[in-house]
Amino acid sequence: MSDGLIGVINAGSSSLKFSLYEGDALQLSGQVDGIGVRPAAKARNGAGEAIDAPDLSASPPATPAEALLALLPWLRGHIGGRPLAALGHRVVHGGPHHDRPKRVTPALLEELATLSPLAPLHQPHNLSPIRAAMDRTPGLPQVACFDTAFHRTIPEVAQVFALPHEMAARGIRRYGFHGLSYEYIASALPAVAPDLARGRVVVAHLGNGASLCALQGGRSIATTMGFSALDGLPMGTRCGEIDPAVVLHLMRQDGLDIAGVEALLYRRSGLLGLSGLSSDFRDLLASGDPRARFAIEVFVYRVARGIGSLAAALGGLDGIVFTAGVGENAAPIRAAVCEACRWLGVVLDPAANEARAATISAAGSRVGVHIIPTDENLMIARHTRAALAEDPA
Ligand code: AMP
Repeated sequence: MSDGLIGVINAGSSSLKFSLYEGDALQLSGQVDGIGVRPAAKARNGAGEAIDAPDLSASPPATPAEALLALLPWLRGHIGGRPLAALGHRVVHGGPHHDRPKRVTPALLEELATLSPLAPLHQPHNLSPIRAAMDRTPGLPQVACFDTAFHRTIPEVAQVFALPHEMAARGIRRYGFHGLSYEYIASALPAVAPDLARGRVVVAHLGNGASLCALQGGRSIATTMGFSALDGLPMGTRCGEIDPAVVLHLMRQDGLDIAGVEALLYRRSGLLGLSGLSSDFRDLLASGDPRARFAIEVFVYRVARGIGSLAAALGGLDGIVFTAGVGENAAPIRAAVCEACRWLGVVLDPAANEARAATISAAGSRVGVHIIPTDENLMIARHTRAALAEDPA
């Protein structure tokens, strides 16, 4: 089983990303976009070169589930008779108990569906392709890998909100997200900075979605996202942490309903809302507009404040790791965050930062600062293989 090919699936409301691994080696990857509107597929081989994508024109998929069913014969065609050992799926919510990936059974699917109200924009779209593949190819093992699982080591005191205590039992608590990314970073850290792997580290996953995670000896002990992926840092279009009374005020004063609040907080806020220009850091960094500069200033301020808060949770700070689209690529953002964290003992090496080196802290910096490219898909492939070995039934 360990030599088989593992397909990794990340399904959203209108897109389905896929990749195929043999061991840790990426064999191919791609995505179907515009599902339900005008679906189009792209694919690349393991070297990143474009290859013929699945032809969806005969029966364009109307849902991510149909997209996966259209993809499976194409995948099998590309692996030349070698068996597809399993599919590993990214599933946003594993609830309060799943602290590791799980082999999919009908009972697990039923249980995960009950979590849909906690993540209505993602969970149903994650689950429907799993269900479709289970019906179409019941012999193909599937594994659900949760974005929340890595954070189940967070102490109870950091998981609860100060609401009436029965609320936590009803599932209203801090879950944390981006867990597969943080787990990958924790797995890569020993090779990059062995001392930090045992120490107190804040990982800054700064992409279109953004969050921070406090790692103590490689385990999550605090994170900025909470009940949903809306909390914490400002993001491309999401507001991050706000006073909940703002929502009450807008509902009372402006008559905003649930759909209006959701659109405001998830799609019209964050860097896009602040700048009025774009959610994309490349656009904002290139723009001379003062609103773009201000939006970036707010982002940097909130990231640096978040790092300070997590350093308090850790009782000190030994390292910072930057990852994801912005963290890996945007040198000016890293520089500004590090400057704002100087008081914590962070000294940046500007040349290393510009060169995007693996270590970007200066030689005398008390806090080590590193860039580690994240790889959530590889994490899912590894987990899927491990879950099959543990639960071969
Ligand atoms: P992700 O969600 O991890 O794919 O990250 C997407 C974000 O990374 C977008 O806001 C991009 O603008 C940003 N990004 C990607 N490449 C760069 C770059 N070279 N410089 C600045 N931002 C970048």
